[in-house]
Amino acid sequence: EEKLQLVRNSIKCYPDFPIQGILFRDIFPLLYDPKAFSAVIDLFEDHLKNKFPQIDLIVGLDARGFLFGPVLAQKFGIGFVPVRKKGKLPGPTLSVSYSLEYGQAEVEMQSDVVQANQKVIVIDDLLATGGTLAAACELLNKVGADILECLIVIEMKALNGIKKLGSVSVHSLLQY
Ligand code: 5GP
Repeated sequence: EEKLQLVRNSIKCYPDFPIQGILFRDIFPLLYDPKAFSAVIDLFEDHLKNKFPQIDLIVGLDARGFLFGPVLAQKFGIGFVPVRKKGKLPGPTLSVSYSLEYGQAEVEMQSDVVQANQKVIVIDDLLATGGTLAAACELLNKVGADILECLIVIEMKALNGIKKLGSVSVHSLLQY
């Protein structure tokens, strides 16, 4: 498809970033080109419209999930909730720690924003080991949210991140 091709052509690869041995996929060129950015949002929107009759919230991951999530939430007329790295959110928070591709981390969410049984979509730019998304899903499970699906732009197949997510379904636009 034409839109998918536009998205694919906008992803840039950087070997050995941020450390030796990592092939980093840069998604920012998607934002440099408004047509490419529209294409990503359209593809996500069409997919969700066809699959889910009701969505209550979009939950986005720090930091690049914040680029796609709010725009998509506006398309559905629903709210956006950030899951942030530790220490960034004021007030009562829930947290989950996890190991990531390079190091250890902890994610947090404000504890009173997502209600039990709310139907949520979780969004991020890239799935590598799956640690980040799995931690976010664990946070959402703590509050009893109903996770419909995780949406990502790029899935790194070889790292098998999907396995870490267990029964949660994942939809990606591009796979490498
Ligand atoms: P994971 O927890 O699945 O190992 O790593 C995914 C997280 O790390 C995502 O939040 C993603 O933004 C970031 N990440 C890891 N590798 C890359 C990469 O090559 N490109 C981009 N854009 N983000 C990456």
